[in-house]
Amino acid sequence: MSMLRSAARVVKPSSAALRSRALAARHFSCSPAVASEARLNSLDTFTEEEQMLRESVRRFAQEVVGPKVREMDENEMMDPSVIKGLFEQGLMGIETSADHGGAESSFTAAIIAIEELARVDPSVSVMCDVHNTLVNTVVRKYGTKEQQDKWLPLLSESKLGSFCLSEPASGSDAFALQTRARKDGNEWVINGTKMWITNSYEADFFLIFANIDPSKGYKGITCFIATKDMGIQIAKKEQKLGIRASSTCSLSFDDLRVPAENVIGGEGKGYKIAIEILNEGRIGIAAQMLGLAQGAFDKAVPYTFQRSQFGQPVGTFQGLAFQQSKAQIELEAARLLVYNAARRKEEGREFVREAAIAKYYASQVAQSVSGAAIEWAGGVGFTRETGIEKFWRDSKIGAIYEGTSNIQLQTIAKFIQKQYS
Ligand SMILES: Cc1cc2nc3c(=O)[nH]c(=O)nc-3n(C[C@H](O)[C@H](O)[C@H](O)COP(=O)(O)OP(=O)(O)OC[C@H]3O[C@@H](n4cnc5c(N)ncnc54)[C@H](O)[C@@H]3O)c2cc1C
Repeated sequence: MSMLRSAARVVKPSSAALRSRALAARHFSCSPAVASEARLNSLDTFTEEEQMLRESVRRFAQEVVGPKVREMDENEMMDPSVIKGLFEQGLMGIETSADHGGAESSFTAAIIAIEELARVDPSVSVMCDVHNTLVNTVVRKYGTKEQQDKWLPLLSESKLGSFCLSEPASGSDAFALQTRARKDGNEWVINGTKMWITNSYEADFFLIFANIDPSKGYKGITCFIATKDMGIQIAKKEQKLGIRASSTCSLSFDDLRVPAENVIGGEGKGYKIAIEILNEGRIGIAAQMLGLAQGAFDKAVPYTFQRSQFGQPVGTFQGLAFQQSKAQIELEAARLLVYNAARRKEEGREFVREAAIAKYYASQVAQSVSGAAIEWAGGVGFTRETGIEKFWRDSKIGAIYEGTSNIQLQTIAKFIQKQYS
């Protein structure tokens, strides 16, 4: 008889102990239903198509975007050839059907592209991210057949899109927006100001959120399609700390006339569109931050094995090597969170909590890894020449747009309260 079995016969547990053990077992055991849902693949298992996409985006990012990164950052301007290249590579209609000129690929494929672009330039990454995960998705998900037939091919092939929700007085409290739309015959007339609109300097296509009936509160919010030639004015182009090549502008609408058929998703449904789309969009920002952190790591680490001090490469000192090990752990954890959220969304499972966790964590990792990468490279890391400091400047935005870090914590807290209170 084994020692463990004989010990069990000698020490007979009391009935109170058995009850508390049974209770604990119920609390901590995995029910058969949960266990049977377990994944068979690791989270970083990708299809052949996804792997090919990763390789081709990586090549495009290194060969086409890479040589322009510094110049675009210094000039605070996206190079038109980069925008053209993104369209030519099929990266501006990743999930759009082939019938509509898109690549008809998966949500995870879009996430892979955003991550790979951010490894080289987070500005280019966010341009592709907003266009795909926000703009295209709204048209694909909420557009009528006529709207999809009209706009999706243009959005896949040449027209850059922007998503206009935030305003000077409504950021985190997005539904307090003040932009108004009133019906005039067969048109809507939009008046108001939008702020912080990504891509808007180069965009031709705008999704504008405006309230058509403030007496209904947020249930008056409606989403409209507008194009630049309808009379959208750029009021101000922001000068920013990071992602400087990505345009961020204030827009003013002064009796902007939009055809009645340009309401998307139905009157009063704008709040629903915004909530649902930003939940998905957060996974895109998480992927941008993941790529950014990896890009900073990849730039700084090789240098630490080339640079010698005290007769040995600085990367071999334990003090530095262990920091790099910890950064790699953070990167790995962020990657698992990002792809977990992406796959859940793709599989039609609940993903809102997972998206908030991924965005919160990946934006923290982006800041910590890119900050550490500067220090690993010493003085040269602090110069603009290496491009490492740019990753750190670019990382700050991850905790702000598409829901600040506090807003992500609030979302996660709501799930905890729902489950435990
Ligand atoms: C570069 C850039 C690009 C952007 N692109 C777009 C875009 O394309 N389209 C678009 O519509 N918007 C865009 N935004 C806007 C962005 O989504 C908002 O900046 C963001 O939602 C935060 O809003 P805010 O700046 O008004 O900050 P505020 O909401 O004023 O927040 C200020 C601080 O208060 C905290 N806070 C607010 N409410 C709470 C709360 N309830 N609990 C705890 N803390 C809270 C925040 O976490 C933050 O720390 C962009 C912004 C930037 C900077």
